[in-house]
Amino acid sequence: MSWGESRADTGTAAEAARVFAIVNQKGGVGKTTTAVNLAASLAASERATLLIDLDPQANASSAFGVTDPALQVYDVLSGSAAALDSIVPTELSHLHLIPAGEDLSGAEIELVSVQERQSRLRAGIAPILNLYDYVLIDCPPSLGLLTLNALVAADDVVIPLQGEYYALEGLARLQRTIERVRAAFHPGLRLEGIVLTMFDRRANLSRQVEDEVRSHFGAGVFRAVIPRNVRLSEAPSHGKPILLYDLQSRGALAYLELAQEVLARHPRPQRKPPLLPVREGQKAEPEETAW
Ligand code: ATP
Ligand code: MG
Repeated sequence: MSWGESRADTGTAAEAARVFAIVNQKGGVGKTTTAVNLAASLAASERATLLIDLDPQANASSAFGVTDPALQVYDVLSGSAAALDSIVPTELSHLHLIPAGEDLSGAEIELVSVQERQSRLRAGIAPILNLYDYVLIDCPPSLGLLTLNALVAADDVVIPLQGEYYALEGLARLQRTIERVRAAFHPGLRLEGIVLTMFDRRANLSRQVEDEVRSHFGAGVFRAVIPRNVRLSEAPSHGKPILLYDLQSRGALAYLELAQEVLARHPRPQRKPPLLPVREGQKAEPEETAW
């Protein structure tokens, strides 16, 4: 397994988006919180960023107040809509979202009988990759077909790991899955790194888990550690990423720090995302925000 070794990433404007799958088959480890707030933090640095909600729970969509979207990621997977048509704006001018909706829960089963079932997302988003700098995919807590689609569509895997006793349990299985995806479909898939989430550095247990993970995975672990912070858990119910909810919180600062590491590893010049057509029943793109 190769951690942290990157193929040349020169940061020229013509480059297609870097695509990150946020994966861990364990539930409730901070995947969505990381996808939402890392995406928002990259957008705050004025990089054209797209968040794709690939979880039938649709938590990343509701975190931006998007419920019951007209088009959603299911339509992209099924080929009934172009990815560009399924994109919605967010309160952050540099962040767009492909939301999830109810139909997505059926996709795991429906996809089974479809040709090239593991590459549906990759094929669907291919036409829009040159419009963005970073694409983040929020995955469901399983290693089923939806997560497989995310892994095949991604350049890099980011694994959120919770600061608790059983954190490392399941990691070996996830690594084997990634190896299998590389061998069968996508040799270029990289493990970008582990993000330590919900950590309490004052607690012995959190410190032990951090030491163990760092000694095991070295540079594969991001330096930024996401603390357990109640503001992070409150923000989604306000339909906002932490930056727009409480910029001074420790959670916001930690995700900004994480974004800086990603920007340093995969530099891109600042640019705006594509202009989206105003659709019926949808608000126009918000006026320029502070970001
Ligand atoms: P699932 O596997 O169900 O998709 P997940 O891995 O996406 O879950 P999250 O939804 O991000 O996990 O987080 C689980 C819960 O923990 C949520 O209620 C979230 O608000 C909360 N949470 C996540 N990160 C933190 C944090 N750093 N501090 C406090 N609460 C957090
Ligand atoms: Mg989630």
